Amino acid sequence: MKQPNLVKAFKRGLKAYQNGSKAFTLIMDKTADKARNNSVLHVSDLKYTMDLCPRQLFLKLHNAEKQDIEYNRKLMFSQGDVNHLLAAQFIKYGLDDYWTITGIEESVKGLGLIGRYDMSIRGKQGETYIVDFKSSRGGNFKYLDNRGASERDVLQVQGYLAITGYDAGILFYIDREGQNGVRQFAVNYNSLIYDDIRTRVEELQIHATNKAKTLEPSLKVRENKGDNSIYLKSDWRCGYCDYYGVSCEGDMSAEMREISGIVAKQNEEGIYAYKEKYETLLPLIRRLYNEWTTLITIRWTKNKRWD
Ligand code: SF4
Repeated sequence: MKQPNLVKAFKRGLKAYQNGSKAFTLIMDKTADKARNNSVLHVSDLKYTMDLCPRQLFLKLHNAEKQDIEYNRKLMFSQGDVNHLLAAQFIKYGLDDYWTITGIEESVKGLGLIGRYDMSIRGKQGETYIVDFKSSRGGNFKYLDNRGASERDVLQVQGYLAITGYDAGILFYIDREGQNGVRQFAVNYNSLIYDDIRTRVEELQIHATNKAKTLEPSLKVRENKGDNSIYLKSDWRCGYCDYYGVSCEGDMSAEMREISGIVAKQNEEGIYAYKEKYETLLPLIRRLYNEWTTLITIRWTKNKRWD
């Protein structure tokens, strides 16, 4: 007997949803966001002034080709959208009379950035808040409870505040796996933060027009009684980058990224490859060693861990 292929149908529907199909009226507001214009700077791009790769921002702004996003990641993003939609509806229903929701999914523009925040709330005495929802994996709640909201997320909310002039922000985290429920964190705002956002936008504008160099692996040297051992460690950012191998060669080839042991040795006469297959890496190793030895050498302690 013929059986319907629900998996295939589900994937087809998910793809249509992600392309902004009007068939999904419940989540239309969110799907509108899918058609985001990548060629302009977004408030969420402020995170590139923290620890992300500036070259990645350039590639994004110039619509460079990306790896095809895996189906399971698309599903995860969609799940986040639905969580945000439900959170907005639950909060709207549950807020007491003191507060009024003044906007949901509002677009903002200013300071050279565009964006869309999840919710704005006004109190009876005129207090104004921007709320940003974040769906997060359950394991991340341990860090949230110990250290508070992520600095990247705080910066994003401060970006909305700098544009809108609202009083303060709230980050609202939802556990997409369910166990930890939700958490709320206050985001402060003042004129110093406004100045900081302005400076960061100037930095982004430089990255937007100047393609940054590829990241580089880090070098570690372990001092031994005999010849010192040299290790290369690939940059984690390239491992998570959608442009790796498609529009950017990254810090190392895919094959070399798998290296985990000693790649070279060093003595008074210089640096030599530990194995024949690492000889092609010698120019890179020598340059990194000469340029940054004092900065990036991490010494192997007696406790058998990297300092
Ligand atoms: S592959 Fe690495 S260097 Fe290239 S854009 Fe991505 S993170 Fe940056």
